[in-house]
Amino acid sequence: MKFTPLFAALAIATAASTPAFAAAPLAGTNAPGFYRVMLGDFEVTALSDGTVDLPFDKLLHEPADVTKKALARNYQSVPTEASVNAFLVNTGAKLILVDTGAGGLFGPTLGKVLANIKASGYQPEQIDEIYLTHLHPDHVGGLAANSQLVFPNAVVRADQRDTDFWLSQANLDKAPADSKGFFQGAMASLTPYAAAQHLKPFSGDTELAPGVRATSSYGHTPGHTIYTFESKAKKLVLVGDLIHVAAVQLAHPEVTIGFDSDPKAALASRTKVFQALSREGALVGAAHLSFPGLGHLRVDGKGYDWLPVSYSQLR
Ligand SMILES: [Zn+2]
Repeated sequence: MKFTPLFAALAIATAASTPAFAAAPLAGTNAPGFYRVMLGDFEVTALSDGTVDLPFDKLLHEPADVTKKALARNYQSVPTEASVNAFLVNTGAKLILVDTGAGGLFGPTLGKVLANIKASGYQPEQIDEIYLTHLHPDHVGGLAANSQLVFPNAVVRADQRDTDFWLSQANLDKAPADSKGFFQGAMASLTPYAAAQHLKPFSGDTELAPGVRATSSYGHTPGHTIYTFESKAKKLVLVGDLIHVAAVQLAHPEVTIGFDSDPKAALASRTKVFQALSREGALVGAAHLSFPGLGHLRVDGKGYDWLPVSYSQLR
C-alpha cells in the first residue's frame, strides 16, 4: 500500500510523456507513380496513370463465377482495381514515351502520366517520340488537353492499321452508340498531332530507332503493336494490352476479353509473344498488370508465372 503514491506518480508521468494519444490523420496517398530500372545503357521509367475499377467478371470471356473464384484466389474481388501504366525510355539519344495514359478520357482516377513524368525528373517538352501500342482511350488520352499538344516536340508513331481504323469518320458513323467514344477519343487525341505534322504512322514490323523496334501483334485492335528495346544484350518488350487480368490470364492465357476487336487474333498474338518472351527471358512491361507492370514470364504448365522485377536503388 505504501507504494501507491509512487505508482500514481509514475502513471501520471507516463501519461504526460506520451506525445500523441490523438490519432494522426491518415496520409491517404501513395508514393509518386514512377518506378525506374536500367536496361543495359537505357533508363526505363514505368509511369502510373492511376488505377480504374473494372468488372472483369463481365468483361472476360469466361463464366463470371470462374473469374470471381480466380480473383478470390489472388486476394482480389470485383470490380477489380486495375493499373494503367505507360513507359518512358531514355536511350541516351532519344527520350521515348510508350503510351500516354487516359488523360481526361477515362474518369478522374486516371490521367496521372503527365504529373508522374514530372515527378520522375523529366518535362513533357523533352520527349522526342511517342509510340502507341494501340489507339484505345487509356493509351492515347494523355496526348492532348483541350486540343493542345501535351508533348509539343514529340513525333507520334503508331501502326497505320490502327490510325486508319480509329481515325476514320466512316467507322465512327457506323459504330454502335456505346463504342463511338473509342473513335472520338482517338480523334481528339491524335488530330492535333496530325495537324502539326507530328503523326507518322508505320506499317507492320519496323525499326524505329537504334535498338528499338515495333512488332505487329494484331487482334486486341486492328494495329496493336509491341515495342522491343535492346541495349547491351538486355531486352525489354512493352506488350501493351496482350494481357489485362493476371489473376485469370496467366494460368489461363486462352481467356480473352471484351475489349478485343478480334479475340481469336488477340489470343494468337498473346500465345506467340508470351512463348517467345518466356523462352528468351526478356523483361516485360505491361500496360495493365499491377504497377509498375515490369517483370518476367515463366512457363508454368499450360500457363505462366509472373515474376515482378526486384527493387533496385540504381547505384
Ligand atoms: Zn488498355
